Amino acid sequence: MQLPTGGTPEIAIAGRSNAGKSSAINALAQHTRLAYVSKTPGRTQHINLFRLRSGALLADLPGYGYAKVPAAMRAYWQQFIARYLAERVELAGLLLVMDVRHPLTDLDLKLLDWFVPRGRPVHILLTKCDKLGTQAQAQTLDKVHASLEGAYGNRGAKISVQLFSATRRVGIAEAEATIAQWLSPADSSGA
Ligand code: GDP
Repeated sequence: MQLPTGGTPEIAIAGRSNAGKSSAINALAQHTRLAYVSKTPGRTQHINLFRLRSGALLADLPGYGYAKVPAAMRAYWQQFIARYLAERVELAGLLLVMDVRHPLTDLDLKLLDWFVPRGRPVHILLTKCDKLGTQAQAQTLDKVHASLEGAYGNRGAKISVQLFSATRRVGIAEAEATIAQWLSPADSSGA
């Protein structure tokens, strides 16, 4: 994996395909540039980078749960992404995109179980919230909160969750505030 080492902080964004990740990127980021390249014989893979308004980079991790790619490729690809998430020094946190109507799938839980113990923060965007009524949105948010609390509550995990809609532009400021906190946490000021 060839990674530029500019030292600019990065936020990764991941999610099952069709969860609304591209739409969330469009709502949060400005323009794109191609960056990370992984070369295997006969194949080149990319992680696309976008620039956030804060100046940090948003690294678009390709969708997981893809049934279409051959198993061997899937294993390789997972390894590529896993290495990025485990080793990338610039990585300040992970945005995990879930369709508000199908939150915390098995794959999401697997990723969380693997990533959370590494100590980096995760912020979950429950996307397409406009597809639910206000009450159902609140109920889903509560349920996801409770599940995360049950799974990670006692372990000091840094996990947060919010409702999001790219279409209605709901939750953009909230997501940006969380990212801003990752980039300059109050407790790193020496106070
Ligand atoms: P990705 O595969 O995760 O990148 O998902 P996309 O961003 O391409 O979105 C998948 C589908 O959901 C598309 O048809 C989008 O138009 C739709 N979608 C994405 N975000 C929203 C949203 O906030 N509200 C609604 N109603 N539809 C959305």
